[in-house]
Amino acid sequence: EEDSDYLLSLFRSIPGFPKEGINFRDYMPLLADARGLSILMDALVRALPVPADSIDEVAGLEARGFLIGVPLAAALHKGFVAVRKAGKLPPPIEHADYSLEYGTASLEIEQGIIKPGTRVLVVDDLIATGGTAHAAKTLIESVGGTVCGFSFIMKLNGLGGCDKLGDAPISTLVSMP
Ligand code: IMP
Repeated sequence: EEDSDYLLSLFRSIPGFPKEGINFRDYMPLLADARGLSILMDALVRALPVPADSIDEVAGLEARGFLIGVPLAAALHKGFVAVRKAGKLPPPIEHADYSLEYGTASLEIEQGIIKPGTRVLVVDDLIATGGTAHAAKTLIESVGGTVCGFSFIMKLNGLGGCDKLGDAPISTLVSMP
């Protein structure tokens, strides 16, 4: 209880960033805080959507998903796969397009980095519409991997993000309006 209040006290909301009408949620102060980071990592491990032994790899989504994905993978004694925005990884790559509010974007992974049959836990800081996490799932499945679950720190309510992700269990630590 005390820990979760402490964790909540470290989130920041920035109205009007990156543009008018968006209330940006920021967990960077939590990473910067020794006690906050330790509570966060313990909470992510405790709230895993599936048992640790049913996960083969942790995949983090660029960029804020990297920051928690690597320590989470290490804590679980798993490997980590970086799911990147387009144009960052050297070839050969696999990619999946997805739509944004205006236009489209792509996510990419290195070819061969996820072997067929690998059970992947997808990690990101926040789920809003679910478009990004859904694209990551499409990408992982396109190379024969299975997404066995999703872990998010924050969920934005009312956008139906989790409904887009199919049957894999989803864990979120904090729900926000
Ligand atoms: P979605 O694709 O609409 O679910 O948006 C989620 C993606 O956008 C994640 O990769 C987030 O890191 C990023 N994102 C969207 N809104 C916020 C926010 O308020 N704070 C931090 N990241 C956000």
